[in-house]
Amino acid sequence: MRTFGRRAFMQRTAVAGLAATSLSRLTQAQSGADYDVVIVGAGIAGLTAARLLGERGPDLKLLVLDARDRVGGRIFTLDDEAAPIGVDVGAQLIHGSDAATWELVREYGLQTRPVDHFGDRQLHVFSREAGGSVLASEQREAVLASVRENYARHFGADIALGEFARELELTSAQMSAITYDANSWSTEPEEISLRAAVLDGEAWDAYRDNDFLIYGGYHRLIDQMAAELTGKIRLNSRATGMLWGEELSAVFYENQGLESAVTCRCIINTLPIGVMQSGEVQFSPGLPDSKQAAIDGLTMGSVVVIPMAFSEPFWKSVVPNYGGWYSNDGRVYFGVPHPEEGETPVVKGWFSGAAADQLSAEGPEQAIQTAIAWLEQASGMSGLGAKLQWHHVQDWVTDPYSRGSYSVTRPGGYGLRATLAQPLGKSLFFAGEATAAPPHYQTVHGAYMSGKRVAAEVARALVPPEESEATLLELL
Ligand SMILES: Cc1cc2nc3c(=O)[nH]c(=O)nc-3n(C[C@H](O)[C@H](O)[C@H](O)COP(=O)(O)OP(=O)(O)OC[C@H]3O[C@@H](n4cnc5c(N)ncnc54)[C@H](O)[C@@H]3O)c2cc1C
Repeated sequence: MRTFGRRAFMQRTAVAGLAATSLSRLTQAQSGADYDVVIVGAGIAGLTAARLLGERGPDLKLLVLDARDRVGGRIFTLDDEAAPIGVDVGAQLIHGSDAATWELVREYGLQTRPVDHFGDRQLHVFSREAGGSVLASEQREAVLASVRENYARHFGADIALGEFARELELTSAQMSAITYDANSWSTEPEEISLRAAVLDGEAWDAYRDNDFLIYGGYHRLIDQMAAELTGKIRLNSRATGMLWGEELSAVFYENQGLESAVTCRCIINTLPIGVMQSGEVQFSPGLPDSKQAAIDGLTMGSVVVIPMAFSEPFWKSVVPNYGGWYSNDGRVYFGVPHPEEGETPVVKGWFSGAAADQLSAEGPEQAIQTAIAWLEQASGMSGLGAKLQWHHVQDWVTDPYSRGSYSVTRPGGYGLRATLAQPLGKSLFFAGEATAAPPHYQTVHGAYMSGKRVAAEVARALVPPEESEATLLELL
C-alpha cells in the first residue's frame, strides 16, 4: 500500500482544490471537528457500528461515507422485473444457527428457511474435463482427512495448502479434492495458508450446523439498518485519504468529481482488504509496519456470480431431487437460489478461484456463453442458450469497491487478523469481515461482530474516564 507524509497529503489536497476552510479546520482544536465519528464503508460492518453508536450516543455526530450508489457493499440483492423475488448476487446465506446476525433477523422480523444441503437433496458432481474423474464425497473427505493427519506432524513453516499437498504425492483426482477445498474459500490451493485451511477449516466445520436463507434476499436486513440511519449516510463518496491524529482526524473523499474533506475525532475504516491493498486510499501518517504486515498477510478470493432465468425449470426433468451441480474442482457451481424456486426458474451460477478469474477476464458478454456451456456440461442438456430469458453477471473480481470476494489468509499470514483489527491510538479504528476472528471472517456475521467490537472500542475512546457510567459504555 502506498503511504505518504503529512506534507505531501496537504499538498495533494491543496492541488486538488480543497476548500481553504477545510484545510484550516484540520489544524484547529478538536472542538472544531465536523463529526465525532466518520465511518468509511456502508457495508454491514459500517452500518452496525453507526447504528450502535447512534443508539447509545444520540448526541454523537456520525457520518457514514460509501463510494457506491447503494448501501450494503458485498450484500447485494437484485430486485428488478426479471428477478422479482430478489436474487442475491453477494452474500446469500446465514451461516449457522449460532450466527450473531440472528439477533438482527429476529429484531427485524425477517422470515428465513433452512437450506437443505444437509438433507435429501442431491448435489451432483461433474468434471469439466472430458473423462475427468469425479471423487465421491466420502473419497474427497478422506483426502482432506489425510491432509489434516499429515498437518498434525508438520512442524515447518506456514506454506501454501497446494505446496503441502504436492509433498503428499496425491493422484490428480485426489488433488482435485484439494482444489475443491481451496475453492470453498474462493481461492486456489497455492494462494491459501495451510494453517488457515486446516485449522480454520476444522473450526468452521465445528461451528456451522446449517445455512439459512432470508426470504426476499439479504437486502431486507440491510435496508432496515439503513432506514435507521437516515441522514447519516453519504453515498457516491469515495474515500481517497485518511489523516489520523490524536487531536483531530480527517477523511478526504471524492463526490461527483469534487474533492471534499470532513474532520472528526475518530475514523472507523471498514474498507475491504482488496481496497486497502490497492493503495487508492492513502493514510497519513503511514500505517505502522505491523498493520501493513497484517494487510499484506491476506489476499482477496475470486468470485463471479451469474443468475440465469430460463423459460422453464429444465433441471426438474434432468435430476430428481435436484440440489445443484458442483464441478469436481469446486470452481463451478449451479444451484437454485431461492425458496420460491417453483415460481421463478432461476439457476444461480457461482464461479470461484481460477474459473472466476477466467470469466472476469472474458468480460460479461463472453462470460454468459461460457457459463451456459458449463451448465450444459453439468446437466448433460443442450440448447440451454435458447431457453435463457434473463441473466446478470456480477463480477466481484474487478469490482472497484471490493476488489475480490472476501479475505483469504495467505501462506505465512496466519494469526495476523487480530493485528489488523487493533485500533491505532484513539483515532483510527478497523472493522470489516477481514478483521473477524476465525472461523467467522469471510462472512456477514463476522463483519457484523466486527462492527459491534469497533463500536465498543470507539465508545471507550470517546467517553472520558470520569464519565464511565455514561450510556455509551453499555456497549463495552
Ligand atoms: C459473492 C459473495 C457471496 C457471499 N456469500 C456469503 C454468504 O452466503 N454468507 C455470508 O455470511 N457471507 C457471504 N459473503 C461475504 C459477506 O458478503 C461479507 O463478508 C460481508 O458482507 C462484508 O461486510 P463488510 O462490511 O466487511 O464489507 P463490505 O460489505 O464490502 O463493505 C465495505 C464498504 O466499503 C465501501 N468502499 C470501498 N471502497 C471505498 C472507498 N474508497 N470509499 C468509500 N467507501 C468504499 C464499499 O462500497 C462497501 O460498501 C459473500 C460475499 C460475496 C462477494
